[in-house]
Amino acid sequence: MELWFTEKHTPSVKFSIQVDRQLYCGQSEFQRIDVFDSKEFGRFLTLDGFMMLTEKDEFIYHEMMVHIPMAVHPAPKKVLIIGGGDGGAIRELVRYPLVEHIDLVEIDELVVAVCKKHLPQTACCFSDERVTVHYQDGLKFIRRCENEYDLIIVDSTDPFGPGEGLFTKEFYGNCYKALKEDGIMVNQHESAFYRDDAEAMQRAHKRIVESFPISRVYQAHIPTYPSGHWLFGFASKKYHPIEDLKAVKWNALGFKTRYYNTQLHVGAFALPNYVEELLKDV
Ligand code: SAM
Repeated sequence: MELWFTEKHTPSVKFSIQVDRQLYCGQSEFQRIDVFDSKEFGRFLTLDGFMMLTEKDEFIYHEMMVHIPMAVHPAPKKVLIIGGGDGGAIRELVRYPLVEHIDLVEIDELVVAVCKKHLPQTACCFSDERVTVHYQDGLKFIRRCENEYDLIIVDSTDPFGPGEGLFTKEFYGNCYKALKEDGIMVNQHESAFYRDDAEAMQRAHKRIVESFPISRVYQAHIPTYPSGHWLFGFASKKYHPIEDLKAVKWNALGFKTRYYNTQLHVGAFALPNYVEELLKDV
């Protein structure tokens, strides 16, 4: 008998992956957690039935979340990740010798435990001595931070369930306060293709624009997310994502990446007209 994982991307559109076997199924205080194995995408993690990452395409998401701001900020030493319990953002960040400390604030301890066991491709660097994990709601954690971080990466679930608070005006305002005077925040910014996703994306964008002096959106192709076209937010107190790109310095690091490069960095901020229209309308 064939087994399939299916996610509804809209009320009338479904996306399915044939599953070889289910490796984990559990319910935490916050959400249902599943890990599957598949021929095409390798292992993949879903929360409440929504795709979080697959082994085959997670490099796109994690490289774009981390290397874009890291190639702009001149000295990112202290970094905060909110969400990100799969460890993919940590894996990319610990490659930078300049990074001195990483706080990861994940609401759900079980996500981290399950990823450590079943998704070692992303959950491989939790033991790096620069990493501290806090099992807390990011919305609450950020309230008491002030002038502390060079970079905040909001690697959250979608704007409902436990992730809802991470798309609010209060949260973005507190991220601004938690950043140093030249800090940068990046976030997963949903998608613009399907109507409901686009409206959520516009709401989040409006709140970020109201909270930061510099705010841009960039894009990547992520096959397993709704529509395959994903957006990220770049919000900053001082640095412009293209004018302040330190391409020569970043290339001198000699990192081997599979998606990110400094030419793509510039191109990722050139958005399709329909997305620009949606962003203008906020
Ligand atoms: N790449 C993913 C995506 O866009 O689908 C995100 C993956 S990561 C696993 C998201 C994490 O955010 C989850 O582990 C979830 O538990 C965590 N999370 C959701 N709401 C949170 C909150 N309020 N505070 C901290 N972590 C939260």
